[in-house]
Amino acid sequence: MNSEFGEYKKELQFALESVRLASKATSKIQKSLKKGDIEKKTDSSPVTIADYAAQAIVNKHLFQSLGDDQKMVAEEDSSNLKKSTNSELLGEIVRKVKEVINVSDSSEILDLIDKGNHDASSDRYWTLDPIDGTKGFIRGEQYAISLALIENGEVILGVLGCPNLSSNHMKPFGSGDDEGTIYFSVKGKGSWSGPTHGLIKKDRLRISDKITADECRACESVESSHSRFSYSSRIFDKLDISLPPLRLDSQCKYAVVARGQAEIYLRIPTDYHYEEKIWDHAAGSIIAQEAGATVTDIKGEQLDFRMGKTLKKNQGIACTIPPIHNKLLEAIGSTL
Ligand code: AMP
Ligand code: MG
Repeated sequence: MNSEFGEYKKELQFALESVRLASKATSKIQKSLKKGDIEKKTDSSPVTIADYAAQAIVNKHLFQSLGDDQKMVAEEDSSNLKKSTNSELLGEIVRKVKEVINVSDSSEILDLIDKGNHDASSDRYWTLDPIDGTKGFIRGEQYAISLALIENGEVILGVLGCPNLSSNHMKPFGSGDDEGTIYFSVKGKGSWSGPTHGLIKKDRLRISDKITADECRACESVESSHSRFSYSSRIFDKLDISLPPLRLDSQCKYAVVARGQAEIYLRIPTDYHYEEKIWDHAAGSIIAQEAGATVTDIKGEQLDFRMGKTLKKNQGIACTIPPIHNKLLEAIGSTL
């Protein structure tokens, strides 16, 4: 990685490598995903062998490369996998991980997954969503491997592996006809993209140059349980947006704004007690911001990454190109 990424050159290099390795495994798993590869967590949300495999792969590569004193706050833990009823699932994960990196056995996999159990209390830690958008992953659609470094409550570095987001910015989304795209950013150094696999060939990302709201395109979740569409459609109407919202899973939405294919990513809480997880926004938010976007919550507050594993002080997400950010906040305020 070039010296242009300054003091974070090494972290960026290994973060990119680990997300690339995980993307390789998850792409393969997605193509042959079976019912038996999917489990339910205690909160009844789905988790697949790919979530666990990707977490083990990223942790193995990152800790091996940067040292065992790294701290990692990752979404998954091994408790479910330790149940005897899940021994087949664990065996499948070991096989999938072994196709990408060297691991000895299932106990190493369990340990690697649990290297992600830091509580987000230290000054410097990584955060990982091994498969962001698991529901999209299961549907065969968009998902992202999301890795970020947080220092003193500030996102410093972000990498988003989007294996199903076409590298050709002019193509429709989710065509899945090429190798996908990896997005990355270091604070103050811009946002970049390159192919998910193979050698680094990077392009600088820049948000779109639209200036009025009515010509904008918005993106939001596919899942109605994650974002309240009845409000967002009223908000888009108030902004005279005529294009239908682009619905895609995961932090691919931040990437799509960063590369200028959409101008808004709006996330309206469906439940006002829901606290957004840091791993669902850390990498995506820095990538959108460093490409020129403004990222706040729906009240216009900065995302506060000093509150532990969730964005307790924030509600929802309002990520837009700067000329329309205030207009979007006004439309939100008059709707909610
Ligand atoms: P998306 O793909 O944008 O729909 O977001 C996927 C993320 O939504 C998952 O990683 C979950 O952590 C998160 N999520 C789960 N439940 C909710 C909820 N009730 N409201 C908002 N986000 C949620
Ligand atoms: Mg997620």
